[in-house]
Amino acid sequence: MESAATLLAAIEERIAHACRLAERERAEVTLVAVSKTHPAEAIAPLIAAGQRMFGENRVQEAQAKWPALRERYPQVELHLIGQLQSNKADEAVALFDAIHSLDRPSLVSALARAMDKAGRRVPCFVQVNIGAEEQKGGCAISELPALLAEARAARLPVAGLMCVPPLGIEPAPFFALLDKLARDHGLEGRSMGMSGDFETAIMLGATHVRVGTALFGERE
Ligand SMILES: *Cc1c(COP(=O)(O)O)cnc(C)c1O
Repeated sequence: MESAATLLAAIEERIAHACRLAERERAEVTLVAVSKTHPAEAIAPLIAAGQRMFGENRVQEAQAKWPALRERYPQVELHLIGQLQSNKADEAVALFDAIHSLDRPSLVSALARAMDKAGRRVPCFVQVNIGAEEQKGGCAISELPALLAEARAARLPVAGLMCVPPLGIEPAPFFALLDKLARDHGLEGRSMGMSGDFETAIMLGATHVRVGTALFGERE
């Protein structure tokens, strides 16, 4: 098993290389280390190696793991990358520094209420169902303008768009489409790219890549 520092350095080099090819600054791309299913003992070495941004896909799991880690490492940031139920909005706003899965009007109002209550504005990415897949989270492309308008009216800080392209087919067209939608709506953030395709995503404009397996190994 390679050390966390070795794995992180390898991913870092690949990110830097993709940035050079695309003539982008390395600072334009944030690596979100997706630590879902992995225990605190697997996460701590990555923090020690210098990683600061982490992603979890479930509120409950994050609540169980992260308060203790954050006490030890106050400099880390935690992003929610998985679907969020409206009744968990308060917990999510308290725990996370960004939410990548805003995908419906009911969640806009739940998050707006939660942020008002907490006096804390958490940047949100609107998740787009970029491949129009039936079972997939994310708002339909046709519904994106209305959802963005609602989010802005509710004073949610909208950081950008997020997508998970369909499995098993070339992701580049979907990344290009998300980039175009972000540009059309004047949004900076593009949360796209995972272990298998983050370099492609960076070349197509990703600002946040969400990498799990390549940093932590396979999940159970
Ligand atoms: C699990 C997950 C990732 C990380 O996927 P890997 O292939 O392990 O890098 C990225 N984004 C989302 C939304 C995920 O659920």
